[in-house]
Amino acid sequence: MSTPVIDFHVHGVPMGEIPPGFADFLKRQTGEDLAQLIARYASPQEFLRLLDNSGVRYAVVLAEVAPVTSGTVSNDFVRDFCRSSPRLIPFASVNPFMTNQPARELERLVREEGFRGLKLYPTYQYFYPNDALVYPLYAKAEELGIPVMWHTGSSVFGGARLKYGDPIYLDDVAVDFPRLTMLLSHGGRPFWYQQAFFLARLHPNVYLDLTGLPPRNLLTYFPELERIPEKLVFGSDWPGVPNIKKNVEDVQRLPLDEKTKQAILWGNAARILKLGVAAQRSEMGE
Ligand SMILES: [Zn+2]
Repeated sequence: MSTPVIDFHVHGVPMGEIPPGFADFLKRQTGEDLAQLIARYASPQEFLRLLDNSGVRYAVVLAEVAPVTSGTVSNDFVRDFCRSSPRLIPFASVNPFMTNQPARELERLVREEGFRGLKLYPTYQYFYPNDALVYPLYAKAEELGIPVMWHTGSSVFGGARLKYGDPIYLDDVAVDFPRLTMLLSHGGRPFWYQQAFFLARLHPNVYLDLTGLPPRNLLTYFPELERIPEKLVFGSDWPGVPNIKKNVEDVQRLPLDEKTKQAILWGNAARILKLGVAAQRSEMGE
């Protein structure tokens, strides 16, 4: 039996504001018009079918509130999308420039709306990850016991400011919030791979989310990947990367220890998401 899979990084389809060029980008990537994509995936049934066909059991679905760059996938949309199935795990978006009480907003989203984590987009939302502006969010996430993900590294969206994607600023966060579970999405691609990898090795609470990196190249980007098998999680970046199944298969084909692959595709994410032990046992066929 093949390993069950958790996709730690899928985006909701953008129902709100869409930045210029976004529809063209999706069309190039997926061959589909945005309108078609929205029509097909506005409700979760078709998406769950896609997960089934890709061998994926659970998916983390990310909200995104970044209207001036990458667009908006609202928290409300993601909440409703995930409500219909326990296989869909909602992560909230809080834009620190759109609320003056970000921590209170996060607490409401988690306690009242059922969100299970937070995704931040420094390159699209324009802040350094160690800015005092966002420290209350980290304190709250640590208190709530939820993981936080940051987009790190490059981006193709117009208006993105890459300086905010340098993982080095997350070193401060790891030091100041040692009980906060932190995921560096895209592993600092492409010019900060080493920095991201070093932070994951150094700090017990820092993980790499390998999303958006062609899996067959992972050992080129991170030659010492097997030094931190417990720190890696798989993600697809759907819909920007449309073929989830191929990405899963490419990870399965890597010349890595089977245990490492299982940790990347399932075990580490299950631990971070606190999926029940019973659920994990049944998934593993035990
Ligand atoms: Zn993404």
